[in-house]
Amino acid sequence: MSNQNNDSDNLGMDKYELKRVLNELEDIRGRNTELVSLYIPAGYDMSKISEFVTSEQSEAENIKSKHTRTNVQDALGKIGRKVKEEQQTPENGVAFFSGNVSDTEGRPDIKIWEVHPPQPIESRHYRCDKEFVLQPLKDMVVDDRVYGLIVADKSEAAIGYLQGNSIKTAYTLDSNVPGKTKAGGQSAQRFARLRKEMLKTFLQEIADKSKSAFLSKAREDKLLGIIVGGPGFVKEKLVEDGYLHQQLQDKVVVTKSLGHSGEGALKELVSKAEESIQDSQAVREKNIVNKFLENLKEENGKSEYGPEPVKEALDMGAVDTVLISEDLELFHATYKCDNGNRREIFEEKPEIEEEVNCPQCSKNMQLEEISHIVDALGEVAENMGTDLEIISTSHEEGRRLMNMGGVAAILRYRIR
Ligand SMILES: [Zn+2]
Repeated sequence: MSNQNNDSDNLGMDKYELKRVLNELEDIRGRNTELVSLYIPAGYDMSKISEFVTSEQSEAENIKSKHTRTNVQDALGKIGRKVKEEQQTPENGVAFFSGNVSDTEGRPDIKIWEVHPPQPIESRHYRCDKEFVLQPLKDMVVDDRVYGLIVADKSEAAIGYLQGNSIKTAYTLDSNVPGKTKAGGQSAQRFARLRKEMLKTFLQEIADKSKSAFLSKAREDKLLGIIVGGPGFVKEKLVEDGYLHQQLQDKVVVTKSLGHSGEGALKELVSKAEESIQDSQAVREKNIVNKFLENLKEENGKSEYGPEPVKEALDMGAVDTVLISEDLELFHATYKCDNGNRREIFEEKPEIEEEVNCPQCSKNMQLEEISHIVDALGEVAENMGTDLEIISTSHEEGRRLMNMGGVAAILRYRIR
């Protein structure tokens, strides 16, 4: 990554770093339309971008307010210099944000952020506004874990996802199951049998589409649960009569009675299941904490807690899951001395010193980098294929984790 400092790392920031930068940028408001956002996808000719920035800078001459004009031109000037430094666009493209962050009118403080995102920037975008344009980057940090949604009755069905707060439809299906007949006698029996067969086919179809929608997510461990709903008996049949793939069956969190079916009812399903969803998230978190506590109790060597031991195990690639309490405000600082020795410490932000003594040669060590513990551990976790879970303190297990220092790890194998 690089923000405010100029390193030439082309790999891009990880999700956690990006999240932090977004939090920072999100809070910034311009006094006027003076905050500049510029997105450049990979493959763009940087000299063309440089020309564009220069032309926007002269265009800004037309801004009436003197303060705004100067601020916009200075922001574009900063971006222009950064653009010139890049020979070519980084692997996933690059985004620049620049503008006045000072609250005092007439005493501007123009800052610039350069973001090399973890996923490709899709399209070129330029805007000058009272806030930064952040949506394209926000889309990259959405939690990719989902709840599966199935809404069905005998005439129609919809299959979708709940990701964060947004609902997406994957499939909609219509059945051919006819309504009940009023005719009597033998033909009525045949008709009833036919109806039953068609319902079976429809249920099978729903199960097949559910499998297409959810099974790979389940296997990647990204399916948090499945919620089933609808009017009538079809939802129960689907769940209880073994239509669903076993792995999906095990993920069913709750079934809910709804007034409607089909795509329009997905929203109703989510609102009715909200409590169950929250509970199931808490259950998941509790299970993770309990797994850690069990390891600790059994003294099997597959648990660590406290920032230093966790980081050490993480660096070795020995960690399966890192647990960090959402209330933890701890920072990771790295230092380097003139002899090239390095040292890392975890501290609360105000406690972090610019210089410390080198334990090896006792010379001064200079502060190199400070990052939030979630960023610092998140970056290593991503490289090591380790899961990182942020644990809420809204439940007993979460508070226990916080009381134990707020950071813990479940290990793949013992290291001590
Ligand atoms: Zn030293």
